[in-house]
Amino acid sequence: MITKVLQIDESALSLSKKIIENGGVVAIPTETVYGLGANAFDNAAVEKIFEIKGRPNDNPLIVHVHKDYDISTLVEDIPDYAKLLAKAFLPGPLTMVYKSKGTVSSVVSCGLNTLAIRIPSHEGAQKFLKYVNLPIAAPSANVSKHVSPTTAEHVFTDLNGKIELILDGGKSQGGIESTVLDCTGVAPVVLRSGLITREMIAKVVGECGEYVYKDGMRAISPGLKYKHYSPNCRTVLFNSDEIGKAVNLYNEETSKGARAYILCDGEAARKINVANVLNLGDGENEIASNLYLKLREGEKIADIIIAVAPEKQDGVMVGVMNRLTKACR
Ligand code: AMP
Ligand code: MG
Repeated sequence: MITKVLQIDESALSLSKKIIENGGVVAIPTETVYGLGANAFDNAAVEKIFEIKGRPNDNPLIVHVHKDYDISTLVEDIPDYAKLLAKAFLPGPLTMVYKSKGTVSSVVSCGLNTLAIRIPSHEGAQKFLKYVNLPIAAPSANVSKHVSPTTAEHVFTDLNGKIELILDGGKSQGGIESTVLDCTGVAPVVLRSGLITREMIAKVVGECGEYVYKDGMRAISPGLKYKHYSPNCRTVLFNSDEIGKAVNLYNEETSKGARAYILCDGEAARKINVANVLNLGDGENEIASNLYLKLREGEKIADIIIAVAPEKQDGVMVGVMNRLTKACR
């Protein structure tokens, strides 16, 4: 199979609709990362996603819908706080978990009685969702455990020959996966951190919890227990106050003939004096936007990526650090 990469126009949308209606999968751009989508009502189509990615079969998928889609056909018991949050942040990089009505394929939620729903803001994603007019189950469009894709080229690298079509909507500006928010309790709880932060949520609805997964726990969001986001080269992570150690390791590796690169934010990059730097830029949104891009760039040219954590650790950086830690584990 030759994987087509097409700009999102009428003929690409028409082809994507045909593939989805025939039980196939299509890679789509979103404002967070690229997704690998299939008709959420179609068991066999959803199973294909797990197969293509090599995704563990207990790691549930997020269902993506058009902004005008009536989600009350898919989920129930939508609390008032969730309506406020939807008004404040949707369409956007926020996934909300509700009690499922059981109308989509049971493969989507891997047997959980809940369903995660997302309304992406990306213009291309909205066009696609409107055109197909179906709820689309979609995880990130990478091979499982590899770095998530933020460009059509990243998707092509991982899935060329395995899928028919990649819709090219440019670089995903957000750069890290959506915030996943449990909306089944009396107050919202962040299951996975992202660009919509716990503070932003609490500002709208007064309170917001955070679920911290520890090894061995029964995971209410099974994806949290898996290794993720790893580049195909050695990686090491240092704290922001360990720049000296990072540079020592860089020099040691370089003297052994290894191609070493330091991955850090702009602030750290200005402090160090080494030739090979993967600069994440400045400010939390720019750093998030560049994280996977630089990890993917790095794995192509480096034997070892030596990451230095940014000093700021709150807000969006909670989500960035969560990914960076998993990438370097
Ligand atoms: P990915 O699609 O690779 O970004 O992963 C989807 C994330 O959403 C994983 O961390 C899942 O555990 C989480 N998720 C999906 N569906 C549910 C659900 N029904 N309840 C809790 N978490 C979910
Ligand atoms: Mg993923």
